[in-house]
Amino acid sequence: MKIYISVDFEGVACSTSWSSTNLGDIEHGPLAKEMTLEAVAACQGALEAGATEIYVKDAHDSGRNIDFTLFPKDVRLILDWKYSPDSMICGLDSSFDAVMYVGYHSPAGSNGSPLSHTMNRKTNYIKLNGKLASEFLIHAYIAASRGVPSVFLSGDKALCSHVHSFDPNITAVAVKEGMGAATINLTPELAQEKIREGARTALLNRAACHMDVPSPLTMEINYKDHFYALRASYYPGVTMLDDFTVSYTADSVEDVMTARMFIL
Ligand SMILES: [Zn+2]
Repeated sequence: MKIYISVDFEGVACSTSWSSTNLGDIEHGPLAKEMTLEAVAACQGALEAGATEIYVKDAHDSGRNIDFTLFPKDVRLILDWKYSPDSMICGLDSSFDAVMYVGYHSPAGSNGSPLSHTMNRKTNYIKLNGKLASEFLIHAYIAASRGVPSVFLSGDKALCSHVHSFDPNITAVAVKEGMGAATINLTPELAQEKIREGARTALLNRAACHMDVPSPLTMEINYKDHFYALRASYYPGVTMLDDFTVSYTADSVEDVMTARMFIL
């Protein structure tokens, strides 16, 4: 059983401020450690469920946040960026049996976390066929289009509800909850315990997980700055809905995500 684990930062237990998400910030170190240990917990759960190959992608900002010395011996670590439309799950192909997401967070346009955003902080929201698009949704659609089910996610509580609105069978573990600019968090010890157990259960239940990828797929992006909408309007097929908002429609999720890579 071959597993891909994509690990972000803003949805790990106790991450709360934007400054802490930057490599080199004084608060980054302890949270990068938590990011690492939550990813390790997911690896341990996967191994307990029978995983034989595990790829872990550091999918936050620099792509070089995790402490690579702490992973089980046979895990493969993907660091930094390929610069491809599949972004946070780069390298995923149909040879994988499941994708898991650790440290994921609520999307732009949601108050689920003080760190809500989608891919970067340029937008007020991104929608796919009228629904708020999280980083989870974007990558789960890509994975589904390649025949790989998304089976597990950990992150903030509101994101877990968002995930279940697309597939109620995904195992979702909330390690924190947004409360205005604050967060209520599990302790690292309990968060890691729940992730390990959740990842194990998720892989045992993976046959139940399935997401349909809509076709055609329309992506709507509302930028905070009007000039980004203008710039995006030069991408072939993009239409401007108003001074801040653009729309792009294609039949395949790969085409939509290629457009996203260039216009976001
Ligand atoms: Zn993110």
